[in-house]
Amino acid sequence: MSGEREKNVIHWFRKGLRLHDNPALKEALEGATTIRCVYTLDPWFAGSSQVGINKWRFLLNCLEDLDASLRKLNSRLFVVRGQPADVFPQLSKEWNITTLSFEEDPEPFGKDRDAAICTLVRDAGIEVIIKTCHTVYDSKAILEKNGGRPPLTYNKFQKILEEMDLPPRPLETVTVGDFGDCRTPLSVDHDEKYGVPTLEELGFDTEGLGQSNFHGGETEALARLDRHLERKAWVASFEKPKMTPQSLFPSHTALSPYLRFSCLSPRLFYWKLTELYTKIKKKNNPPLSLHGQLLWREFFYTAASNNPRFDQMVGNPVCVQIPWDINQEALAKWAEGMTGFPWIDAIMKQLRKEGWIHHLARHSVACFLTRGDLWISWEDGMKVFEELLLDADWSVNAGMWMWLSCSSFFQQFFHCYCPVGFGKRIDPNGDFIRHYLPILKRFPAKYIYEPWNAPESVQKTAKCIIGKDYPVPMVNHSEVSRINMERMRQVYHRLTMRSTATIPKQIHSREGQQYTKHSKLYLRKQVKELSSAG
Ligand code: FAD
Ligand code: MG
Repeated sequence: MSGEREKNVIHWFRKGLRLHDNPALKEALEGATTIRCVYTLDPWFAGSSQVGINKWRFLLNCLEDLDASLRKLNSRLFVVRGQPADVFPQLSKEWNITTLSFEEDPEPFGKDRDAAICTLVRDAGIEVIIKTCHTVYDSKAILEKNGGRPPLTYNKFQKILEEMDLPPRPLETVTVGDFGDCRTPLSVDHDEKYGVPTLEELGFDTEGLGQSNFHGGETEALARLDRHLERKAWVASFEKPKMTPQSLFPSHTALSPYLRFSCLSPRLFYWKLTELYTKIKKKNNPPLSLHGQLLWREFFYTAASNNPRFDQMVGNPVCVQIPWDINQEALAKWAEGMTGFPWIDAIMKQLRKEGWIHHLARHSVACFLTRGDLWISWEDGMKVFEELLLDADWSVNAGMWMWLSCSSFFQQFFHCYCPVGFGKRIDPNGDFIRHYLPILKRFPAKYIYEPWNAPESVQKTAKCIIGKDYPVPMVNHSEVSRINMERMRQVYHRLTMRSTATIPKQIHSREGQQYTKHSKLYLRKQVKELSSAG
């Protein structure tokens, strides 16, 4: 056998933290002599980054689960400490690597990082295997079909999808059979050198850290998917995210964090849903069906895929330029759940504590921070979500924040979420507020959404004096929301008055449908079409 070239592989896990539907790993294993499954982690970055402890815990769960699954295949996960650009050249030499494989990262930052690594390792004669699997469709193909630009309305997006082939079916889970004769060389000090670190090792203080409602990892993701699908009747009647008091609490079928870290393949989710629809003979009718929700994820991934400034206002061709106020104190009150509006504060407490909040809860707090009440930039809100949300995706998070702040995709600024009335309609007794803001738990339902209106005697009985034990509302909602709506009206008015030359092309192609008289019709049409996701 001498002279035959060995195939020594590094499979690089980043997102795509799973063994099911992993085409890059499958192909890498074909005819391989050795394989090392690597996750790179910079401990210095971990401690100092803007990523919250819940997200780190979720990630470490994912890595532990992956390591456990690899052990069953006589392999292990190698958590390599350091930056990819530093560690790959060194490890490639040390391990005599011939092949590097990974799942394609569809986001601009990831694409740049991967391009740099590819150049580096290809220069060293290493073959690279890259497969698309973080999204149902390949966003490059969607862009190509649309003349190189992302479609900026969901309608257009769907039309393009209709012209495309059905998305690929998910691949089977990697098995001992796929490994064949391929070995993973392990040293006795593997755990010491390459074990999954603990939160403490990453420098986090875990004292007082509550139990997690979302255990990271492929195993849990697949169990959740099954539970999700078991509720067939629910799926069959699914129209849009309905909000019951119970739905505000963490759900054991919520899949977004698992899709974010891709411990659940979106294609598996897609095809399982398709099978279910066929079984129950329901016409699949996005955007109202659950497929539709999943395709919103695709929509934002595609919209952001060639726009490195997608998470910023300035220089972002799809973002309306709005003169937001800078107010650090107000921002901090919102971020810490100290606005004095129990509905808003309970949501922000839940976000900080648990890392997941309901879709319409996200609407409420995003509207409040931006165009509704505080007139603070969506970028600031997005960053807080990025730090705290388990499912925070660069593309989806920025896309939804632009949406909610009327900065892109959808401009429904004449509708505003009331920080008192909206929650009250969903949860009239205020159980959600009582749970996340126990200081208010003794208030009668009549006052729980607006405790500042409770007579002094009621506040005393509730053992909570407003202004002392809980803040007074930081703004007068009816006043500021009226002013802000007028500010927004002016922004849009100016936008349509400007000459076409100064309006960014993509904006104009949408706004060009004339805001004002006609626009009301146009917007109403969009309201109907888009409110399912919005
Ligand atoms: P389901 O309703 O069960 O939907 C199934 C899946 O479809 C979700 O897991 C998610 O992957 C996808 N999905 C659902 N709604 C949307 C949507 N509107 N846009 C894109 N994908 C969607 N979702 C994220 O995944 N990451 C984010 O960073 C994110 N940021 C948001 C920021 C704001 C301001 C708002 C208003 C919404 C944001 N969302 C984000 C969308 C949505 O709130 C969550 O996807 C949803 O609440 C997750 O719960 P679920 O898994 O039960 O969703
Ligand atoms: Mg759900």
